[in-house]
Amino acid sequence: MKIICIGRNYTEHARELNNPVPAEPVFFMKPESAQLRNNQPFFYPPFSNDIHYETELVLHINKVGRNIQEKFAHTYYDGIGVGIDFTARDLQQKAKEKGLPWEMAKAFDFSAPVSDFLPMDSFTDPGNITFGLYKNGGIVQQGNSADMIFSFDAIIAYVSRFVTLKQGDYIFTGTPAGVGPVKVGDRLEAFIGDRKMLLCNIR
Ligand code: MG
Repeated sequence: MKIICIGRNYTEHARELNNPVPAEPVFFMKPESAQLRNNQPFFYPPFSNDIHYETELVLHINKVGRNIQEKFAHTYYDGIGVGIDFTARDLQQKAKEKGLPWEMAKAFDFSAPVSDFLPMDSFTDPGNITFGLYKNGGIVQQGNSADMIFSFDAIIAYVSRFVTLKQGDYIFTGTPAGVGPVKVGDRLEAFIGDRKMLLCNIR
């Protein structure tokens, strides 16, 4: 499996990192080894001094597809969860300045904690899903899928022009504003609506 991540999909987040609001989706990937499941703790990696959380809704892909038309895209995912796109912001900044790829900053081991997935029939409107992140009990990110620049279905149509989607893939759909650093000892809790979906302790 693979993890596809959308960058800059919420206007306020693009602005907070001084990035332009994109005209087409920006995407990158994390490998299978980036997965962190079952509320396992995240161990702060030695190669960075500035790991940031980015809380994102995550689609669970349920069948193979390429060149998917947007009107059929909703049939290619069967659940939505929440995940954290951990980012080594110091390494990413250096890569950006040099025009180099982001893998070191984004694709490292266990950089993608993911919750279980809620089936689609648990959402009355996938275009209006609230989610958020608490750090040490205080809210730090709040988002709603209504504020995405590119919808779930637009993302699937776009990405599948370049990359075949396969059953079991995840798509991280972008983070709202409020990203920030973590340190050892922090406790992250991610919610969809009022439902606590994910716990991630930083060790
Ligand atoms: Mg992200």
